[in-house]
Amino acid sequence: MKCIFCKDDATASKSVEHIVPESMGNKNNILPKGVVCDTCNNYFSLKIEKKVLEMKYFQNLRFRNGIESKKNRIPRGIALIPKTRYEAEVIISENKPFEVILDAASFELIQKGEIKHLILPFDIEYPKNDKVFSRFLAKIGVEMIALRILMQNRNDQNLLATEPDLDPVRNYARFNSKNENWVYSSRKIYEEDENFFLENGKSVDMVFECDFLATQEGELYFVIAIKGIEFALNMAGSSIEGYENWLRENDHISPLYSKGRHFGYKLTPNFLKK
Ligand SMILES: [Zn+2]
Repeated sequence: MKCIFCKDDATASKSVEHIVPESMGNKNNILPKGVVCDTCNNYFSLKIEKKVLEMKYFQNLRFRNGIESKKNRIPRGIALIPKTRYEAEVIISENKPFEVILDAASFELIQKGEIKHLILPFDIEYPKNDKVFSRFLAKIGVEMIALRILMQNRNDQNLLATEPDLDPVRNYARFNSKNENWVYSSRKIYEEDENFFLENGKSVDMVFECDFLATQEGELYFVIAIKGIEFALNMAGSSIEGYENWLRENDHISPLYSKGRHFGYKLTPNFLKK
């Protein structure tokens, strides 16, 4: 079977692929071995996912919401020390009070009683117009298409790998040899502590949710909300005009919450507008 990114033979690959990183709360959306080759898997994990997870925004988001890494660790948070504006690291570990790593000057001011509180910043901005994050979205989008195809019929994987309409987005995610920076849409659609309930009334912590929007103009957008921030990427290139038009026509509702939005499981050859 061909790797859905580099098209090399991925039959002997050893790793499964987490579509959204485990450290972003993904336990279930996984591609089996043989879909993404080990080289591409390693590339994404080091060059894309690690960089996104280390962004201050995601580090603090995961800290605030207790989203554990795959090694069950909650990342360090950032606390601002008033007066010095020094950024201290805050560590939460099991069975311990939380620890704050201070610089000598801030420690002295606290000892003297001149600093009595720390500020945990909520106002770190989510990534806008960030190339690494845009490629992160492209990678997840391609893999979500693969997951849907595999859920239907595993034999279609080579069809996905050879689908020419997907070449720009897979190359952008994996190689970006033209050094592009595809624009994506980003906005808040609900608060990060929003309550979600299952049909049985049980409340769940929604870390991320995603889907595709196929517009009437034949464009396909990958839409993902991570703790209430919705990001949308055109699966065919760097333009979100069609998405913005769709939003205007639909009272700015998120495609994640509009009816009849589903892209379906079958890849149709002409769903991307060039
Ligand atoms: Zn590959």
